[in-house]
Amino acid sequence: MLRALLEPSELTWRLSSGTASVLGLTRAPTAVPPTTAYVMLGDRCANDCAFCAQARSSRASEDALSRVIWPPITGEQAVAAVTDGFARHTIRRVCLQITGGPEAHLSALSAVQAISSVSPVPVCVSIAASTQGEIAQLLSAGAERVTLALDAVTPTLFEHVKKRSWAATWACLQEAANRYPSHIGTHLIAGLGETEEQLVTLASELFRLQVSVGLFAFTPVRGTRMELNAPPALDRYRRVQAALWLLREGLVQREELRFDDCGTLRSLSMERNALAELLRSGEAFRTRGCPDCNRPYYNERPSGAHYNYPRPLTQAEADREVSSLLEMLDFATTGSEGAYGQAHTIV
Ligand code: SF4
Repeated sequence: MLRALLEPSELTWRLSSGTASVLGLTRAPTAVPPTTAYVMLGDRCANDCAFCAQARSSRASEDALSRVIWPPITGEQAVAAVTDGFARHTIRRVCLQITGGPEAHLSALSAVQAISSVSPVPVCVSIAASTQGEIAQLLSAGAERVTLALDAVTPTLFEHVKKRSWAATWACLQEAANRYPSHIGTHLIAGLGETEEQLVTLASELFRLQVSVGLFAFTPVRGTRMELNAPPALDRYRRVQAALWLLREGLVQREELRFDDCGTLRSLSMERNALAELLRSGEAFRTRGCPDCNRPYYNERPSGAHYNYPRPLTQAEADREVSSLLEMLDFATTGSEGAYGQAHTIV
């Protein structure tokens, strides 16, 4: 039986540095303000994901998650700040990232209740829930969405990187998606050793289940088991982003995608100009996941190339991204070629 809910003051709260800034709690400048308030709840995680700064065996700072710093804050301050931020239209969502441990579910439930009882702000909870009962309680308490992070996209990779059972996690996610369509999300990380085909195929199945997919680029963090691994190549990430966006929008079907023997995306079975037109807005390259989640600089430096653009692309940026993407794909030749140049291969 569930214990009584905890008071906000009994929980360990941290806000991402960008969130603290946009909510007026610090004066640190932000290149792009977060549109969601990112909150980490709990102490060092009991789980041991190889990529995660919060993992049990990680030597990274307890203030770190990916390349973001999360300073501590009191529960009362956190609840007041996100409530006020939503009322002032500074943020449009709260994301609770729950570290694993015996109190994880109770902490998540208490935090959702504390926020939802005083504000209509949509709240999503990223948690390693293992039962439908836990998910039902979080949604009943006011969570708009529960995110069950797969991170790795194949059973072998998942069990190697996360040291947990794929079968149990996948079964839980599938059942939750069936019970609560459009209220379940997941995270996928590109660059853990998967092929593009494996990632895109799983994402396609998740879209079919109406699960929202937050795509991340693996980011090596000092002190973690994967600190020496390289992040994914940007061209690879762009192909995956384009495929996922087209699948999500229903503009292409999984069966139409062509991969080579190494699992690299080669063709979207579309004419070059048609694809250029579909991608022209640059939306495919923006941060995706829950509505209004932009995760600024979670995977990249503000000065470097963006894996996920946390804001609308300028037309020049969009044209550049589309142009580079088109150079990597194969197309059926047509009589007319547009602004992006000659098609080069027949499929
Ligand atoms: S997609 Fe964004 S808002 Fe949703 S759980 Fe993931 S990080 Fe949080």
